[in-house]
Amino acid sequence: MSSDAHTKLAKLRRDYEAAKAQIQALGYVIPGTLQKRQYRCGKPNCRCATQNILHGPYYQWTRKVSGKTVNLNLNEQSAPKVKEWIKNRQRLRKLCRRLEYTSLALLQIVTRMEKT
Ligand SMILES: [Zn+2]
Repeated sequence: MSSDAHTKLAKLRRDYEAAKAQIQALGYVIPGTLQKRQYRCGKPNCRCATQNILHGPYYQWTRKVSGKTVNLNLNEQSAPKVKEWIKNRQRLRKLCRRLEYTSLALLQIVTRMEKT
């Protein structure tokens, strides 16, 4: 095996282990999206109309359960948590793609080596 292939293999193994370590350090993971809502109620004498002080904010977590959209209203305390856990899911997916990518690249190098 060439030293170039050795270097590539070592780098891929490092990348793989780094992604794995990041997955291990990841917090909770949930699906869905979080929406923050503020609105005007439409009553002409309400302060939302007269002073431009909107109602809310209200937080709504939306996700699919067996193909159906499910909404859950959240309070201001749990909203940041949900936001973080949704973000963790995106991070996890990205890290999984990295594991696949580095595994495939490793396999290509190894199979090329075995052919020669
Ligand atoms: Zn209002």
